[in-house]
Amino acid sequence: MNIIIFGPPGAGKGTQSKFLVKKINGFQVSTGDLLREEIKKDTVIGKMILNDMNDGKFVNDEIVNNLVKSIIFDPQKKNKIIFDGYPRSLSQAKNLQKQLEASNQEISFIFFLNVKKETIVKRIEKRKIIEKRSDDEIITFLRRYDTYIETTKPVLDFYSKNSNFYEIDGSLEIDEITKKIDNFINV
Ligand code: AMP
Repeated sequence: MNIIIFGPPGAGKGTQSKFLVKKINGFQVSTGDLLREEIKKDTVIGKMILNDMNDGKFVNDEIVNNLVKSIIFDPQKKNKIIFDGYPRSLSQAKNLQKQLEASNQEISFIFFLNVKKETIVKRIEKRKIIEKRSDDEIITFLRRYDTYIETTKPVLDFYSKNSNFYEIDGSLEIDEITKKIDNFINV
């Protein structure tokens, strides 16, 4: 079973992915994490990634697709992948479909955690106090949210027609979201 967790930054994709990793004994593939690992290597590509991330922009599709490809074709991870933060563009969604077909796999569930900007702003305000985040970080976060909504609209349209697409209210408590996901999977 491969699963996609889709939703804006701050929707709780990472938290729910971790639940799914345990549930299906799977592997979480966070493209954000993969990209941050690339930055640490301090390569030319790493520097390009860092510039885009700092501007709140999306990283180039080709770079992201290549990072994900090696995971899809890893026999250990076959049919146990939880995609967290990927795909985020139509080109990435089409690439994913192609790579899955080529490796004889499919997506069983697509969970869209839908959260409004106001809810996220409230959450960030809380984090700002707890984690002492700067206003700059918050501005970048909001820019990332806007980029996400604008850019992922075609991805949403691409997947929302599918019978395995489930929209979940991401403003619910973490446990409530987990329960909903669990119920869908257990059917
Ligand atoms: P995340 O950790 O998922 O919030 O991602 C942090 C940043 O990494 C994003 O704001 C993007 O700049 C970049 N990023 C993560 N995943 C992708 C993706 N699938 N496509 C393009 N950029 C991405």
